[in-house]
Amino acid sequence: MGRKSKLGWLLGGLFLPVVALAFAVTTLLYHPQTPLPPEWNPTRPLDPKAPLTRITQWKLAGAVAEPQLCAAALERIAAPVVALPPQEQDDQCHIRNRVQLSNLATARIAPLETRCDIALRLAMWEHHGLQPAAQALLGAGISRIHHYGSYSCRTIAGSSRMSQHATANALDISGFDLTNGQKIRLRNDWQATGKTAEFLRSARNSACAWFRMVLSPDYNAAHHDHFHMDQGRWSGCR
Ligand SMILES: [Zn+2]
Repeated sequence: MGRKSKLGWLLGGLFLPVVALAFAVTTLLYHPQTPLPPEWNPTRPLDPKAPLTRITQWKLAGAVAEPQLCAAALERIAAPVVALPPQEQDDQCHIRNRVQLSNLATARIAPLETRCDIALRLAMWEHHGLQPAAQALLGAGISRIHHYGSYSCRTIAGSSRMSQHATANALDISGFDLTNGQKIRLRNDWQATGKTAEFLRSARNSACAWFRMVLSPDYNAAHHDHFHMDQGRWSGCR
């Protein structure tokens, strides 16, 4: 038996198993009644409230790269979302994929104008990080999230480089109101001890799963009263 015919025999033997496998995978991914949960299915769009899986961040990266996918995902977690036309001040200062939010998954927020990417990350942080931590550590939910805004056409303090805020690619969070009436503010409570301080550490740490850069009061005095979060080039969790 020559080499060629051995190869032919091998390929012939593999043909049926390969076709069967392709059929099984296609059915698993595309059949309407697939037993694969949507959060594990790479062909299904991101559901921002779905349980987290190993492919959640991959789906999120795909969603924020496409304005329409981002808008659809944001609508599923933070409705009603107001889509606004882009704001173009100049090359360095603009808000693209601009939205206005006043609700997150559960908590309310003073109207926030930002990029869809930042809005979606904020809502996912609230749903998957902040609310569970508040329940576990403080025995209450978060009813309101306080912020210092997203867009600001300026340089980084003490630098000539433009801030991520100049493109609304950043967000500053200053505190949380709980459903039991407790008001938590970074400027008052970061230095406290006990469960409130523990909650704020947990909030900072969980933000790092959703934003590339997170700066807390631990970083420097300029951040004593807020968490800065952005999606710029640099990463950090301080
Ligand atoms: Zn900031």
